Amino acid sequence: MSNVYYKKVDAGTTVDEVRLMSRQLLEEIVERENVELSEKVPLKVHFGEKGNATFIKSENYEGIIDYLREKGIDTCYMETSVMYGGQRYNKELHVKTAAEHGFNQLPIVIADGEQGEVFVEVEVDLKHFKTCKIGGAFLDYDQLFVVSHFKGHMMAGFGGAIKQLAMGHASKGGKLAMHMGIKPRIVNRKCKKCNLCQTRCNEDAITIGKKSFIDHETCVGCGACVAICPNKAVSIISAKGLYNGLLSGKKFREKLVEYAYAAQKGKKNIYFNFAINVTKGCDCEPKKMSPIMEDFGIFVSTDPVAIDKVCLDMARDRGNVFKGGEQLVYAEKVGLGSTKYRLLLSPATAATGKGR
Ligand code: SF4
Ligand code: SF4
Repeated sequence: MSNVYYKKVDAGTTVDEVRLMSRQLLEEIVERENVELSEKVPLKVHFGEKGNATFIKSENYEGIIDYLREKGIDTCYMETSVMYGGQRYNKELHVKTAAEHGFNQLPIVIADGEQGEVFVEVEVDLKHFKTCKIGGAFLDYDQLFVVSHFKGHMMAGFGGAIKQLAMGHASKGGKLAMHMGIKPRIVNRKCKKCNLCQTRCNEDAITIGKKSFIDHETCVGCGACVAICPNKAVSIISAKGLYNGLLSGKKFREKLVEYAYAAQKGKKNIYFNFAINVTKGCDCEPKKMSPIMEDFGIFVSTDPVAIDKVCLDMARDRGNVFKGGEQLVYAEKVGLGSTKYRLLLSPATAATGKGR
């Protein structure tokens, strides 16, 4: 069983309070779990796609940054570029987007190089992958603070620490390897011929016309067209037939878990989940979205599985069932962490613990 510490937040919680709470949570976990901090500890974050408004803003991280600075610990923001188009496609665009979104407190390291070409093959020897392509610069560190926005995700079902480890640490080739086998199709009766998906497709795989279609020989299954279509006219299909990525995608989720396993291998990470602005879609989507439930907390743990399980359970308690929970079972099976947790309302006392 793993400990997950948390503080409650709600609509009335200010950014100053969030900043203070995340610092207090960090102090608490370091002390109570006897976490040894390294000399260099990057923050693995998500800068938010241009046009997205619900990603976790940099001001929320300033309490954590202050703590590291006071301890004399070297830090930076770390990310990898995405595999589809948009404003985080390569290092130059990504750094520009990060700056526009206010991430100017620390140097920025794009871990997989200028175009996503820098990676290390990390051995895992699991069901889908023998090795995983992890952004090269991550291998320079033995500890990261992996900071995640808990929310929904089109294919993973939900996104938290596991997705931040997996998709967030993989190089472009790694991201592709996780997505392969999942290719979309256009539902012509829903398509309004706006061409948005075509402009987003880096592979030139989409033809829009009287009968719009996607060439599955060319398509690499990156999912960018699914994310951008305003009319939900792009569905996801597998080689065996049609399925909705929010309802299925077990193989994709298992691959995600295996990449998460590779990303944390040999590291003594601390995980932060922010359940603030919990949207149905993820921060990669270039559009404004409305939260689907009230903010409910900031969480910290040394276990990426336990922290995601807590958030998933608390979202369910609030009436919102995110798909994708089976990835936690697979994550536990491969040794990424535990689905059993002790939830400790910070400042923690033995009496506040709640296990599942
Ligand atoms: S974005 Fe959607 S509606 Fe627009 S052309 Fe593509 S499939 Fe059709
Ligand atoms: S058609 Fe294929 S390659 Fe093009 S954006 Fe869609 S999923 Fe990506």
